[in-house]
Amino acid sequence: MVKLPIYMDNNATTPLDPRVLEAMMPYLTQNFGNAASRTHSFGWIAEAAVEKGREQIARLINASSPDEIIFTSGATESDNLALKGIAWGYKSKGNHIITQKTEHKAVLDSCKFLQKEGYDVTYLDVDKYGLVDPETVRAAITDKTILISIMYANSEIGTVQPIREIGEIAKEKGVLFHCDAVQAAGKIPIDMQKTAVDLMALSGHKIYGPKGVGALYIRKKKPFIKAAPLIHGGGHEKGKRSGTLNVPGIVGFGAASELAQKDLPAEMERLKRLRERLREGLTTRLDYVHLNGHPEKRIPGSVNLSFEFVEGESLLMGLKDVAVSSGSACTSASLEPSYVLTAIGVGPELAHTSIRFCVGRFNTEEEVDYVIEAVVKHVTRLRELSPLYEMVLEGIDLNTINWNAEQ
Ligand SMILES: *Cc1c(COP(=O)(O)O)cnc(C)c1O
Repeated sequence: MVKLPIYMDNNATTPLDPRVLEAMMPYLTQNFGNAASRTHSFGWIAEAAVEKGREQIARLINASSPDEIIFTSGATESDNLALKGIAWGYKSKGNHIITQKTEHKAVLDSCKFLQKEGYDVTYLDVDKYGLVDPETVRAAITDKTILISIMYANSEIGTVQPIREIGEIAKEKGVLFHCDAVQAAGKIPIDMQKTAVDLMALSGHKIYGPKGVGALYIRKKKPFIKAAPLIHGGGHEKGKRSGTLNVPGIVGFGAASELAQKDLPAEMERLKRLRERLREGLTTRLDYVHLNGHPEKRIPGSVNLSFEFVEGESLLMGLKDVAVSSGSACTSASLEPSYVLTAIGVGPELAHTSIRFCVGRFNTEEEVDYVIEAVVKHVTRLRELSPLYEMVLEGIDLNTINWNAEQ
């Protein structure tokens, strides 16, 4: 028997790995020192722990040096620091930023904020799989362009962008390149020696580490990258991010990075197998199921499906034992379709029937099978109530119907 409820929303957050908690514990208790204290062993112990965490995170992405890692409160702050920090730092050079429509809100809302300050932002379109074409990035570059910001992998649809190709273009054109790699780090290999990314946002709680800790990778190169700080104070993190360091958080983030790196090839295979079992199980037993995102260029554990002819909220209610998320963002009272699904051309009707399943480290084959059974049962039940589904089964083309006709 599987234990309920089943957590299958690992792109939203992940449980803390018990091994990570174990590594953190001493720094929540006896080793409570301030990493900036230089006059006693409490400080030295905390500082050593922070530097170990920095090394573990640098290794996860094969950075040249741990000094390239700046600790933050999470990837939202890292994205803000990359966007605003570069915009402010390179104001004299230009005011144009290139990004794309399916970025995380931390990037999009930072861009909107910068537009109000007079910056010019190009939001590139993506194709039906959510891919941005590197040549459209090239075509958007002007002599005023100071930054390109394209994410590694999308949290809703899992699509992995052609980061290396875009990096080469950025390098050739001499434009800085920021990449939100929250959904890629620890899930697929990232190699900063082979990828011309200048800044990269990472988060602890998406890789079985603690919440409230993240990092911004800033490449060490000549001339130095000038990211203006958002937070001023004691000059921590080389003046780029002041504030007493979250030592237990950093220790946990570091331990989580090391664990993710150690198991990466095997875990990629295992998660891909579970994801495909789920997708196949659902698409062979149900008709009118649509995959959102790219069939192959995707992170291993993530699958987003639209179930035509069901009401999305009813389906989620039926699946109350399974923690997944839907294609509607509940903003206040209104139910808006996800902007990511809208950007890849999924209409509002279909978007509302979309469910994102994200299997992670602690999910099992038994859980996947339980979820398949539950989804098949509820989709079948809801379709039995759907007059539209009945009409389609009878061979009526719904596009030929004039819904507004007088009764
Ligand atoms: C979760 C997430 C973030 C935000 O990270 P936090 O550490 O929760 O602030 C940013 N970008 C992507 C792609 C994410 O999935």
